[in-house]
Amino acid sequence: MSSSDIQTSRIRRLNDAEPRAGRYVLYWMQASQRAVFNHALEHAVREANAMGLPLVCAFALVGDYPDSNRRHKAFMLEGLRDAAAALERRGVRMVIRRGAPVEVIPQIAQDASLVVTDRGYLRHQVVWRHAVATAIDCPMVQVETDVVVPVETASNKAEYAARTIRPKLMKRLDEYLVELKATPVKHDALGIDIESMDIGDTAAVLEKLGVSDAAEPVPQHFRGGTAEAMKKLRELVEDKLDRYAANRNQPQTDDVSYMSMYLHYGQISPVAVAMEVRNAKRGTAEDREVFIEELVVRRELGFNFVRFTPEYDRFACLPRWAQATLKQQTPDEREHVYTATQLADAETHDRYWNAAMNEMRHTGYMHNYMRMYWGKKILEWTNTPQHAYRVTLELNNRYFIDGRDPVSYANVGWVYGLHDRPWTRRPIFGTVRYMAASGLERKCDIDGYVEKVAKLMTKKAT
Ligand SMILES: Cc1cc2nc3c(=O)[nH]c(=O)nc-3n(C[C@H](O)[C@H](O)[C@H](O)COP(=O)(O)OP(=O)(O)OC[C@H]3O[C@@H](n4cnc5c(N)ncnc54)[C@H](O)[C@@H]3O)c2cc1C
Repeated sequence: MSSSDIQTSRIRRLNDAEPRAGRYVLYWMQASQRAVFNHALEHAVREANAMGLPLVCAFALVGDYPDSNRRHKAFMLEGLRDAAAALERRGVRMVIRRGAPVEVIPQIAQDASLVVTDRGYLRHQVVWRHAVATAIDCPMVQVETDVVVPVETASNKAEYAARTIRPKLMKRLDEYLVELKATPVKHDALGIDIESMDIGDTAAVLEKLGVSDAAEPVPQHFRGGTAEAMKKLRELVEDKLDRYAANRNQPQTDDVSYMSMYLHYGQISPVAVAMEVRNAKRGTAEDREVFIEELVVRRELGFNFVRFTPEYDRFACLPRWAQATLKQQTPDEREHVYTATQLADAETHDRYWNAAMNEMRHTGYMHNYMRMYWGKKILEWTNTPQHAYRVTLELNNRYFIDGRDPVSYANVGWVYGLHDRPWTRRPIFGTVRYMAASGLERKCDIDGYVEKVAKLMTKKAT
């Protein structure tokens, strides 16, 4: 069943198993970790109501999730606790089990009439869904809820740049920016006796799962969950939005939304964020447009890239002109060369860059303008562009709470020429766009940024 608030283009059948009688409908929550404004969840609720069944929601907690560490997992667990409590208030039973989805979900699906899931775009997320769909004996459908415009609806090929995907997304905004209200659950599932893991104590769960300690949690800076995401969204629309366009490239300010980490774990819906901003009383039309450009055009260009580029996490994903020009300049002498460890430790000659690396390492976040500079300098200070690309991606995904996202791969690629055009030729970069420290000095209050980071580094958890 679908309706205009859950557009049919969001829904896809993943197997052709015959319908069968079961004890419940199962929503396998993996990418969209929220109980509100979640098209997959609402679709599952409506199906369960129509079948006269209760709804169970299951999450597979994977200890060795690709590239994840204690920082990522702690943030995610905060969000999952939030989601579990909100689901239970709606009469949906939340089940969390340790293990890979293909081990965990088919077990719980044995008693299900139907499995509904959300959508992930990275290689392993796609493989998981296909493996589960094949392993179960009941119908399984996927509902795409973490983008405004479903990826294949926007375009059926890898787009060259923001300018080529922009008109395709913008002409569909009104069709997809539609309110999604929670449908009341008709058959309570709370009485269903089904084993679930306790995730109340983050430290204990991290210990039990043996999660990598490559980066530690940063609760003094950011807490996960839909409630936190909504609080930050309110701060944006009630206070910051009128400075958004002007301060977009001013890293010394705090005039950003901090939505990326919540979007990454599906703790907030991009449709909900876009609608709040569109309807905001604060800010000018320009502020709203600039924000929607980032949230919808730039972000969904990242999803398009990952969906249509099998090698999205390799140097080979870059446009041919960029690979060629970077390879041609490889013999060029580098004035400074740093190892991955020196970079991670923020031990370079450049105090602006060190501040950026420290912001990333100590808070899990970095302002977009500094992310651009940060990436460009890794290319400049590393012996080969291939190695530089790997180091950039590794640091990005280790320290950012929003790392390992389709947007991560697209933006690391951007540093190396993806979605960009050739510029004036220069050493090391060839015709790939360059950024200079003098540009920061001219365009923003870079000393103010260095001071801001120094203060952030002393912040303690409350
Ligand atoms: C080298 C480099 C690495 C990056 N790595 C990541 C990453 O790992 N994960 C990640 O989510 N973003 C990444 N970005 C994109 C961008 O920097 C962040 O999304 C943004 O800074 C997050 O802060 P915010 O939510 O406060 O953004 P805001 O300025 O408030 O923007 C609102 C939303 O728009 C989207 N957005 C903003 N800037 C971009 C952009 N350049 N590309 C795509 N979407 C954007 C995000 O969803 C963001 O939450 C990277 C950018 C660069 C240049």
